[in-house]
This record gives sequence, structure tokens and C-alpha cells, in this order.
Amino acid sequence: MTSQTKQRSVAVIGGGAAGYFTALTVAERDPAAEVTIYESSRRTLTKVQISGGGRCNVTHSCFVPRQLIRHYPRGSRELLGAFHRWQPQDTIRWFADRSVALKTESDGRMFPTTDDSRTIIACFEQQAARLGVRLLKNLGLRGLTKEEDGRFALEFNDGSLQRADKVCLATGSLKGSKLARSLEALGHSIEPLAPSLFAFNLSDKRTHGLSGLSVQDASVCTDQKGSAQRGPILITHRGLSGPAILRLSAWEARALQADNYHFDITINWLGDVSENQLRETFNRLRKGKTLVKTKVFEQLPRRLWERLISCTGIPETQKWANLPKDKESALVAELISGRFAVCGKTTNKDEFVTCGGVRLKDVDFRRMESKLVPSLHFAGECLDIDGITGGFNFQAAWTTGRIAGEAMAE
Ligand SMILES: Cc1cc2nc3c(=O)[nH]c(=O)nc-3n(C[C@H](O)[C@H](O)[C@H](O)COP(=O)(O)OP(=O)(O)OC[C@H]3O[C@@H](n4cnc5c(N)ncnc54)[C@H](O)[C@@H]3O)c2cc1C
Repeated sequence: MTSQTKQRSVAVIGGGAAGYFTALTVAERDPAAEVTIYESSRRTLTKVQISGGGRCNVTHSCFVPRQLIRHYPRGSRELLGAFHRWQPQDTIRWFADRSVALKTESDGRMFPTTDDSRTIIACFEQQAARLGVRLLKNLGLRGLTKEEDGRFALEFNDGSLQRADKVCLATGSLKGSKLARSLEALGHSIEPLAPSLFAFNLSDKRTHGLSGLSVQDASVCTDQKGSAQRGPILITHRGLSGPAILRLSAWEARALQADNYHFDITINWLGDVSENQLRETFNRLRKGKTLVKTKVFEQLPRRLWERLISCTGIPETQKWANLPKDKESALVAELISGRFAVCGKTTNKDEFVTCGGVRLKDVDFRRMESKLVPSLHFAGECLDIDGITGGFNFQAAWTTGRIAGEAMAE
């Protein structure tokens, strides 16, 4: 079908993960629609390219919607129904049907078997060409209004105007965007934006100079009411990172922003070992003749263990047998409830997202359509949805894009 004979015009704003998935879905489902992706920059799919350290963590091998939603600090309630319609299993099949095989790593993250994000980009570009999806680059949407005939007038940053019957906003984070004000003029509310998935800066003699060491099963919490996050913690030259830290930054993104990223954390370097368990272990060690500095806990790197001992004021020659009680207590505290003062944050280079965006209560998740402006749809990170690391953010983009695309193709 040529563009002259196409009946409905569908505008997808943003050539990222969500925008492509939406556009491909509409074009597949409704060949009579003229589908155009408008992209503000000169390149599309840039985040897909850099994602997962260049490997693109496409999704996560979690196939039960009720479990899947637990990985979303914001949006979990709304995503439950959406995941019943499009979940990681569907994503895997969609890519497999287009000759892109995904593999699962031991922690559940899924990547293309090529370990190369360009595989995903090539797949999208081939599909877009096959389905006749138009791509217009260097066109940033500045504002949109609904006209009397029910169509949309789209105003772009070069001053041009376009019209469309249906619009899907897939612009990613609405940070600093004029579009946000245009949406507010249409009645939509924008939840305040805040970074999520960041590392913590700190300057502390217990970790100074130990950059690169990691503890595989630690747990960390703030003084907020939120629960502790368990998993690997990585010591970096600026402070702390790793899955447990990133998860904490996501779950408490708003509170940490309110504290201007100055707050205290408590770390249990031994995961869930309790004080009683630790004291029992120490009692057993007292019966031997070994030095305290002889490494005891398999999960602790030796250099960190030695550092914690020295910061507790225990001399190198100290034996377990005659370790003073006050030193034992100090060591217990250091191991399972060490307090650290965080002063600032650092962007995690592997994955970061923005929480906040279009308020979810104004969106019908069965169609990813505005409840206030018919035929206006939303997909991806422009919504107040964000996940923790592990492929959950892309999965939200695929799911919302798919549902928006299906609704627009009706
Ligand atoms: C370094 C990094 C690594 C990541 N790795 C992973 C990972 O491995 N797995 C995972 O699940 N998630 C990952 N994420 C998160 C993931 O990239 C995002 O959640 C996802 O890209 C969101 O998709 P989106 O299409 O909504 O937004 P985006 O990918 O941000 O795409 C939006 C597009 O819209 C364009 N645009 C913006 N405004 C306008 C406008 N007004 N008009 C027209 N176009 C506009 C932008 O230029 C952009 O191309 C990573 C993020 C980062 C930053």
C-alpha cells in the first residue's frame, strides 16, 4: 500500500525502545495506517545501543506477572494487568520469530546471544523497513493540541506543523521538556522527576583504596522505612555501587533526592548473619590459637576483612583467644551493622533511569491511552514507571509499547 492510499496517520514521538516497539506493532497490525516515528536527535535507539554495557539486557527471565511487578518501585500496580498481556515470554518469542535468540545469565538477565546491542537495533531497523514505517529525524515535538475534527496538531522545534489521527508519546524522560507543559495544558499531571539507579559517593577510611573489591552477598539499608536490599556490593573509587546499592537507590529514589543525597546507610557485609550467630562463631574461634586477621569469612575479600579489623583498632598480632570483649563488640558492629555517611551520587554507567513522568492514574493501561485526551497514547519511560536493573526497564518499554500499538491499530 503506498503512502497516498494509507488511511490513518499514526505519529510515534521518540525513536527509542518504546517508540520502535509501538510503531512496529501498529504497522504489523494495521497495514492501512501510515506510521511515522519522529525523533528529535539525529540518531535513534541510542540508549539501546549503550544499554547493558553494549550488550543490551533485553528482559528478565521472570514469567509470573505477580512476581515481575515486584521489580518496579513505581508502576507495579498498573503493570500487573499489562504484564498479563505482554510479558518477558512474549518478548522472547517476538525476537525469536525475527531470528534474534536471547540467552539467560545466572542472575536471570537476558541478552541477545551475540552479546551485542547492535543485533537488537538491526532487528528493529529491518522490521521498520519491511513494514514501511517512516522515520523523520531531527524533529522534536514541542507541543500538541487536539483540533475540532478530532485530529492532533503537532508542533515541532523547527516550526513545522504536522497532523495525525493518533499519537503515541514515547519520548523517554520528560526532563526539561516543553512537551511536559503541553501535556499539562491538556490536563495531564507530571509526577516530579528524580534520578534512579545511581551509585553512592562516600569518603571513608574503611573503603578508601579498596576500589574494585566486591562482596557477593551483603545487605544494605537506609534509616528510611524501606526494606534492606541484599546482593553484591562493589567498592568503587568514589564509594559504593553494585546491584544491592542500585536497588536501594531505586526504591528510595524520592526520599534520597529529598535528602539531597546526604544520608546514612547501614551495611551487613555478611548478608543476613545475625549478632547471635556471629558471636557464636567468635566463641568457637576463641578456642583456637589463630590470629584474628586470618581470614574467617569466605564471602569477605581478605583486604576488606583486614581493613575492618584495623579500623576497629585490633592489632595485627591479636589472637582470637584473648580478644577483648569491647573489641569483639566493635568487630561485630563493623561486620553486620557498619554505618556509612553517603555524600552525593554518581551515575551508574551500565543503566540509569528517571522516575516520575506522566501520572499513571490518568492513563488507561488496557490501551495505554490517555483518559483525558482520546487517541493520545503513552509508552516507555515518559510514564511514571521505572524498574530496578536487570532488563526490567526495557520490559516495561516493550509491554507498554505493545499495548499502545495494538490499541492504535484498532
Ligand atoms: C546507560 C544506560 C544503560 C541502560 N541499560 C539498560 C538495560 O540493559 N536494560 C534495561 O532494561 N534498561 C536499560 N536502561 C534503561 C532503558 O534504556 C530505558 O528504560 C529505555 O531506553 C526507555 O525507553 P524509551 O523508548 O521510553 O526512552 P528512550 O530510550 O530514552 O527513547 C526516547 C527517544 O525519544 C527521543 N525524544 C525525546 N524527546 C523527544 C521529542 N520531544 N520529540 C521527538 N523525539 C524525542 C529521544 O531522543 C530518544 O531517542 C539503560 C539506560 C541507560 C541510560
